[in-house]
Amino acid sequence: MVKQKISIVIPAYNESAGIAHFYHGLTAALPSKYSYELVFVNDGSSDDTLDILESLKKSDDSIRVISFSRNFGKEAATTAGITRSRGSAVIIIDADGQHPVGLINDFLKEWESGNKVVIGVRSANHNEGFIKRYGSKLFYAMFNAMAHETLVPGSTDFRLIDASVRVEFAKLKERGRITRALIDWLGYKKSYVEFTANAREHGEASYTNSKLFKLAFNSFVSLTTFPLYASGYLGLIIIPLSLIVGVFVIIEQFAMGDPMQLKITGSAMLGIFIVFLVGIILICQGLIAMYISRIYEEAKDRPLYIVEHDTHSSEK
Ligand code: UDP
Ligand code: MG
Repeated sequence: MVKQKISIVIPAYNESAGIAHFYHGLTAALPSKYSYELVFVNDGSSDDTLDILESLKKSDDSIRVISFSRNFGKEAATTAGITRSRGSAVIIIDADGQHPVGLINDFLKEWESGNKVVIGVRSANHNEGFIKRYGSKLFYAMFNAMAHETLVPGSTDFRLIDASVRVEFAKLKERGRITRALIDWLGYKKSYVEFTANAREHGEASYTNSKLFKLAFNSFVSLTTFPLYASGYLGLIIIPLSLIVGVFVIIEQFAMGDPMQLKITGSAMLGIFIVFLVGIILICQGLIAMYISRIYEEAKDRPLYIVEHDTHSSEK
């Protein structure tokens, strides 16, 4: 019987120090009931990651190397690997040994029992710096308060998707992309598997704090439109406040002849008026933002819906 093929997608950027070690650990951990294609995506490494992959390929037909002309970033690398893979399921895993290869077996079991998406959820890694740990907590709290979709804290790119999910994933063409959020957006039956991240075995994490900050910022901008509306909300707060103060001043000062002896000056009243006008401007900006956010959503050109089954379709 021909074994079903599973694709393993591995983005690799300057991983020469550990990638051979990773490869041996990986192949040792893969259950033998399936056949595999190992899709390494060399994301424009400046070290000899590519040479090592090419030489590993000489003794292993299951290796496929996709190599970028320059560094395009992990999101682009995983996207290329996923869309070009051909297995019945695709597993995405980091090349640095932080994602335990032993979990692949668990992912496959979850997949066999009908889950289309299996997500590795990382429990806290105590070796990480203060900023990374608390920054990510803050990020998830803020994100989930602002976005319609929720992100499960700790959910990682280490995940499995079914071939049917890959077909839909390939239709998402937007540029500012976060692979895991796009997969979340697609829906499908999900299951979560917890793991503790290993320490990076070799090399350095290329996600420095500033890169992580950019990633978080990018997630906000590409997945939520809240920042666009923020000025409108500010206007909505300022207008009623300045109105209340303004009306109070008019009544107290002019209608009642200043019984509270506040002696409000003309410039103070002008100040209140200006705040009111600023509120109007902010609201107008919020209105413009509503249209811009529509344009933004349209520009992303995501599919309107995703059909998983149709009894009249010959495909499934
Ligand atoms: N990576 C990549 N392109 C990049 C940066 C990273 O393909 O520009 C790969 C890297 O080789 C690794 C994975 O993405 O396999 C995760 O990278 P890293 O360990 O630097 O990030 P972190 O563990 O902090 O998420
Ligand atoms: Mg890492």
